Amino acid sequence: MINRELSSSIKALMPAKPRSSDPDKPVSMWRERDRLRGFPETTMVVIFRTTGCSWYNFSSCSMCGYFNDVASNVGVDNLKKQIDSAISALGYVRVLKVFTSGSFLDPIEFHPEARDYFFRKLQGRIDKLLIESRTEYIRKDNIESIKDYGIPVRIAIGLESANDDIIMNSINKGSSFSKFTAAAKVAKNLGFELRTYLLFKPLFLSEKAAISDMLFSIEKAMPHSTDISINPMNIQRHTLVEKMWKKGLYRLPRLWSLANILIKGSDMGASVVSYPTGGNKERGIHNEDRGPELLNLIYDSSLKQNFSDLRAYYEKSDLREYYEYLDAEDVNMFQPDYDRLLDRVVQSSSWI
Ligand code: SF4
Repeated sequence: MINRELSSSIKALMPAKPRSSDPDKPVSMWRERDRLRGFPETTMVVIFRTTGCSWYNFSSCSMCGYFNDVASNVGVDNLKKQIDSAISALGYVRVLKVFTSGSFLDPIEFHPEARDYFFRKLQGRIDKLLIESRTEYIRKDNIESIKDYGIPVRIAIGLESANDDIIMNSINKGSSFSKFTAAAKVAKNLGFELRTYLLFKPLFLSEKAAISDMLFSIEKAMPHSTDISINPMNIQRHTLVEKMWKKGLYRLPRLWSLANILIKGSDMGASVVSYPTGGNKERGIHNEDRGPELLNLIYDSSLKQNFSDLRAYYEKSDLREYYEYLDAEDVNMFQPDYDRLLDRVVQSSSWI
């Protein structure tokens, strides 16, 4: 399930050495709204600095630049200090989302001693926890003891697409749909909830094809998932996606398409959410016109799980120009970002 040529191209862009960062401090912490308990509320997010994703030893996913945040010198004591910082920042918040630059459940990245310290400190402090992991660490022997702490946990898995061809030849995930379903089964049998991440518009797919991939993937992931988070592409540093984007050979997806996916996904009966990273910014999902209304509606509908206002806005809008963009892109070999391509042409011909 590995495209070695793609993997090597991605690996070549990764920095040779992790940057030296303070191993006692999380990468970042902030508050944001989500609905992990079935209603919208403020949650706390912490990104723990770790030694990074086990997949980095081989390569990385084509869109992932989390390796920019890892440090090679993070040990158990450092993780404990980071945990203390996160817990003291919790305040009144009862829901915590934990990200690492890899998998919280990887015992090499997040040592079992630090994991135990983390759960013990959280007892009585929170009512819901979200953690992320690659599928290989979602095994009974590795996760069943988590139940003993009595904290309700939702595990998030980056499936990205239910199409193995896309997983291998576009994303370079080093995984597969069958690995996802096996891990989901283990988690479900042990009583964990599951959030499934899908990546909207990976490399080498037209936006039309990417929309179809999301609808197909929602249908396939739905029976295994408590909810499905649609993550539109954003541009991270030192990635293959960034390289293509800088050359004008990749156009970020449009908010109209995301709205369409959410409306259709909810019609299919899925609990779909999307809180786009970098929405309406240069490196995030955006329409040609970057008005705030559509992005706000996407957030609101996701939080409320009510897509009627989003649907009404979508249906009353004039989307002819948007459809023209989609049609034009669909017959191209690449997904051109015309503004960037034009900039390059102008720059390369400026000596004339
Ligand atoms: S599995 Fe996750 S952390 Fe690891 S390279 Fe892929 S996206 Fe990044």
